[in-house]
Amino acid sequence: MRTKLVVGNWKMNGNLTQNQELLNAIITGTRELRDVVCAVCVPYPYLQAVQLVLKDTHITWGAQNVSQFDFGAYTGEVAAEMLLDFACRYVIVGHSERRSLFGEDNHTVAEKFKKTQSVGLIPILCVGETLAQREIGETERVIDEQLDAVIKLTGINSLAQSVIAYEPVWAIGTGRTATPAQAQSVHAFIRSKLAKQNTEVAASVQILYGGSVKSNNASDLFAMPDIDGGLIGGASLIAGEFISICSAV
Ligand code: PEP
Repeated sequence: MRTKLVVGNWKMNGNLTQNQELLNAIITGTRELRDVVCAVCVPYPYLQAVQLVLKDTHITWGAQNVSQFDFGAYTGEVAAEMLLDFACRYVIVGHSERRSLFGEDNHTVAEKFKKTQSVGLIPILCVGETLAQREIGETERVIDEQLDAVIKLTGINSLAQSVIAYEPVWAIGTGRTATPAQAQSVHAFIRSKLAKQNTEVAASVQILYGGSVKSNNASDLFAMPDIDGGLIGGASLIAGEFISICSAV
């Protein structure tokens, strides 16, 4: 039985005061929830403040990116080991904004996945197709390649200590959500692909859906058999929305 997981991706938003208010509301609003793990992935500069607010609560936290390199001369980068100082649990790797705006290719994403796991953190591996790719029937091929890059570098068993997030690029921040049937079909494809190599990994890995999840569509998406929760962007910045989405599982 897979636990449900809802992760907020704050992206490049927030400040100390807003973050504190948002987190206080989320802590209170999700306190009674059972059978769901709630987490927030926040900008690096706020990790320490977020850790102080969330330690000893039921909410977990993490980062939105990590360097694939060890400590050294990499100006502006953040090493995976540094994230341990702030008791992170999760690291988002391969978000489509990193792939499209910052040139991260499948191999780089796989290296970040490996580095994240090497220090004991859990990568949330984002995969998904663009609208153009969907329209020419390339969705499964694109996701196949994104997953294969990781499997080639770290092996199929490594996915057991990870989370996968299916995020169709055309649904991220656009207000256009995949229908529950569209999302379920890709989630089932991912699970069956993994099952060809290891049925236990396929059965246990959490596969989140991300892409304009809101309080009014979350429960239909989360009711699908292969959708184990959500990766939430815009709606994770609004306490009431995020709480409702966590409640929807
Ligand atoms: C995301 O950033 O991962 C995301 C899914 O964003 P949104 O919910 O705003 O579409």
